[in-house]
Amino acid sequence: MIDYEKLAKYSAPVPRYTSYPTAPEFKDDWSLEDLRKHIERSNQSGRDLSIYFHLPFCRSACYFCGCNAIYTSKEELKDRYIGYLEREIAIMGERLNLKRRVAQIHFGGGTPTFFSAAQLGSIIAAIRAEFSNIDKNAEFGVEIDPRFFTEEQMKVLAEGGVNRISFGVQDFDLKVQEAVHRIQPYDLNARSVETARRYGVQSVNIDLLYGLPFQNAASFRRTIEQALQLGADRVALFNYAHMPWLKKTMRKIDETTIPSPAEKLKMLQIAVELFGAGGFEMIGMDHFAKPNDELCVALKEGKLHRNFQGYSTHKGCDLFGFGVTSISEGEDFYAQNFRDKDDYEIAIDAAKPPVMRGVSLDSDDRLRKRVIMGLMSLFALEFAEIEREFNIEFESYFADALSALSALEADGLLSVANRRIEASATGRLLIRNIAMHFDKYLKKSGALERRFSKSV
Ligand code: SF4
Repeated sequence: MIDYEKLAKYSAPVPRYTSYPTAPEFKDDWSLEDLRKHIERSNQSGRDLSIYFHLPFCRSACYFCGCNAIYTSKEELKDRYIGYLEREIAIMGERLNLKRRVAQIHFGGGTPTFFSAAQLGSIIAAIRAEFSNIDKNAEFGVEIDPRFFTEEQMKVLAEGGVNRISFGVQDFDLKVQEAVHRIQPYDLNARSVETARRYGVQSVNIDLLYGLPFQNAASFRRTIEQALQLGADRVALFNYAHMPWLKKTMRKIDETTIPSPAEKLKMLQIAVELFGAGGFEMIGMDHFAKPNDELCVALKEGKLHRNFQGYSTHKGCDLFGFGVTSISEGEDFYAQNFRDKDDYEIAIDAAKPPVMRGVSLDSDDRLRKRVIMGLMSLFALEFAEIEREFNIEFESYFADALSALSALEADGLLSVANRRIEASATGRLLIRNIAMHFDKYLKKSGALERRFSKSV
């Protein structure tokens, strides 16, 4: 049973932990020499690769969007960008062993399908030409905006090996859609899902947002009922984080129309009930999936993993990101590309990896990353496993964290017993609040309010 009063009590700005250390800890003076050493170690490990391509263009801004998107109607920008992506792969190929097995490919954005079918085909061809060992069962996912999605594009994507699609939906209510500058009728979404299925896409995800202007419990109930009719395998239900001081487009949202925290909790409650009744299981703090979906299976088998794209079944890959703003992640480092397209192009013109900042993980970071990501993915943690992997004594190393968790235990968010932490149903929704006690940087960083979104 979820205790919604406790959710209200613990709703506070907390990192989402798509990385540890979190992005504010990445260092601007991290050098290309650092990157070279980490890639060398990554090559020596022979771990599988996960490769991410950021396709940043959108026709216009959705006011809720927190992505790093470039709004344009200039067609020529896209061909130019593809050229730079190809050159970036070649530059990275001088360091990264491109013959390593690729287990996962992902196109994110922006709007990947803002690129034409022919352009998407040429990006896939460039990837396949350079990465010579893409597993035939590789998970190949694309984020799609149904407003820019044609059958011709789906055909090219399917021929290129795409087998996972995530559709951005957000809400079906016209008043909400108008307020966020994204008109997307239900039928358009239904046709998009049907097209993906016709081309054999095994896994369809839809993204929904709660906390948008004019949403309320009654309107959101209708949205979820419609969402269930789409027949998706997974649903990502995100809490809209209104942070206009970070994202200019959010300033276009009239704050007086944003639902109150109490109304948002009602929406979350409705979502949990309706998705549960509709045959979905709750995966993580904001994901639902059908029981036979591989995310559900991975959670039950203890193989669920979390990275910058969210939850994944591919534990043990090194992630390399291409394109503006993209992030790479190895066992002992994170590196982020330039966010600004001009800076990105200048680096590539100089034949350098377009890396803007990064961080090298020391042994304490790696240990804490393992603990935090373990909790975020599996909602439980065995002390003995961590002790085996890191040669520490868990209770003494994390005495502070365990002592802080006792208050959360008293509130029913988790149990600590038999040398194991296990989150309750309520604690699963507040897993960020549990994980944060293992974050060494949080205490010193301050300014939580302005840097991170609220947990619920
Ligand atoms: S939500 Fe998607 S389509 Fe809308 S601005 Fe953001 S990236 Fe672009």
